Amino acid sequence: MLDLEKRFPFKKEHFQVFYHPDCLLHEVGSGHPEIPARLSSILRGCARLPAQLPVSFQVPQPARISELELVHEKQYLLRLEAACLRQSRFFMSPDNRISPTTFRAVLAAGGCALALAETLREKGAGFALIRPPGHHASRRSAEGFCYINHVALAIEAIRLNEPEATFLVVDFDVHHGNGIDYIYCEDPGVFYYSLHGEPDHIFPHTGYLHETGCGEGTGYTRNITLPLESSGDHWLRHFEVSLRDFEKKIRPDYLLVSAGFDAHREDPFGVMNVEDRHFIKAAGLIAEIAGDHCEGKVGFFLEGGYSIAVLERLVPEIIAVLAVRRNQRSYLEVYEEKR
Ligand SMILES: [Zn+2]
Repeated sequence: MLDLEKRFPFKKEHFQVFYHPDCLLHEVGSGHPEIPARLSSILRGCARLPAQLPVSFQVPQPARISELELVHEKQYLLRLEAACLRQSRFFMSPDNRISPTTFRAVLAAGGCALALAETLREKGAGFALIRPPGHHASRRSAEGFCYINHVALAIEAIRLNEPEATFLVVDFDVHHGNGIDYIYCEDPGVFYYSLHGEPDHIFPHTGYLHETGCGEGTGYTRNITLPLESSGDHWLRHFEVSLRDFEKKIRPDYLLVSAGFDAHREDPFGVMNVEDRHFIKAAGLIAEIAGDHCEGKVGFFLEGGYSIAVLERLVPEIIAVLAVRRNQRSYLEVYEEKR
């Protein structure tokens, strides 16, 4: 591996990036876009970041099955493990390819999500560079290349210690994060915001504007849909206008981000025309909201995005932008304490 944790050693005040080499062990076979090169390219890009950047890389312990039970039913987890071990080709639907070592990747990604949750509890911020992705997975079903819902796992891990904590989840993957939406549909402690392509035309065909939550959670879901082929400027304008809609409903303690990059104009899914600069601006807006509302506690979780070139250059750049922003903020806080 690239030994990023040696090049960017731990400092508590840094922006924390979590990754695990086992996340590369989830093999999907030919013709499937969710390939190990997605992650290895990001890590390669990160190795080129300047060493003086206020960012630390960590390789956490893989999750235990009992920890994944915070979100998923035990039977579901055991079925997934068994399917991997008996060398099934997919799990629950042909989209969800698996290999004998997929379950190791699943545990490693879960461990990164839990480590990021712990960082947030300590008032930090960071990015979990993980695969397989998670936002389509619900409690007992795998869907859309997702097996474990990492954002939900982080929420439930934080709630173990802080049962009253409230969360804003921002999902800018081009696909609606139906797993997160369904898990927290009735939960007014989690405001879910998603900006995605029109459900009539793209997977998972959910996330219409009128879906605003259910029961006690009514009003705590905000789905913004955009026509296919929308320009990056259009995408960003909608993001800017609607992102703060949560302020009427909730004052979040934590901000979690489902960071998918498949709305990019170079993405092979070819759904939208968002460019690097729009994603960078969006990440800055998210960091601003985290600063305004939750003491800068923001955690990014890698979701989709299938252009290897885009991932390699854009994700490290976003990490650099977030790290520098955060460090300036820390500096100001130190400065104010000294005064
Ligand atoms: Zn996606």
